[in-house]
Amino acid sequence: MATSPDSSLATLWCPSPNREERRNGLKPDMLILHYTGMESAEGALDWLTRQESGASCHYFVDAEGRIAQLVAEAERAWHAGQSLWAGETDINSCSIGIEIHNPGHDFDYPDFSEAEMQAVEALCLDILSRHAIPAHRVLAHSDVAPGRKRDPGEKFDWQRLARAGIGLWVPPAPVSDDTGLGPGDEGEDVAALQRALLDYGYGVEVTTTYGTGLEKVVEAFQRHFRPARADGRADASTRDTLERLRVARSQAETG
Ligand SMILES: [Zn+2]
Repeated sequence: MATSPDSSLATLWCPSPNREERRNGLKPDMLILHYTGMESAEGALDWLTRQESGASCHYFVDAEGRIAQLVAEAERAWHAGQSLWAGETDINSCSIGIEIHNPGHDFDYPDFSEAEMQAVEALCLDILSRHAIPAHRVLAHSDVAPGRKRDPGEKFDWQRLARAGIGLWVPPAPVSDDTGLGPGDEGEDVAALQRALLDYGYGVEVTTTYGTGLEKVVEAFQRHFRPARADGRADASTRDTLERLRVARSQAETG
């Protein structure tokens, strides 16, 4: 067991018992960002280091920008839970997880502080320097567990991280009055949307029917990539943003 942090940015080493070997020889090729969703940072850190929680993460960042490491990067931390991305269901085995303190949607969802964002940015760059993690695999917990999770949510500044070279992001198309596709709609347009989201990595079934599963995935997509309105309706702005994101990914892969 490691006895000191992998990252020189971590000033605290708070080992969590909730860790194990990564399964099936998987190595980290994803970075998953979370918010703690608890009222106090002290309470969240305490919870993640207690066996009874059954939860942990590799890194924990508080609102003052202090970074603690809880699980060695070589090991499997328990942060993603039941998740799916690009066909992989054992997200914990192939990812590094960062818990960013924010009380979240259940407690008035305050803004992330500047000190906290600076620390997250530096920590992500540091992690990316050690692991082969493609930009499009830097994701929100909500991306890999839509409907079940909302973190880190629509206030999280993905654009800022992208400017620093972390994650894939395109400027979202402006929101208009267009209501687009939504629950109950059927047909080829719905199937095309399902195929596009599935191709990007989201857990979507191609059924031609706009069901609640698709609504939750669209909402997750919006929280990350078109945060101005996360309502689960695939309006023109949402679909345009998704198309440009897919183009940006193929450009990143071939460039
Ligand atoms: Zn989470």
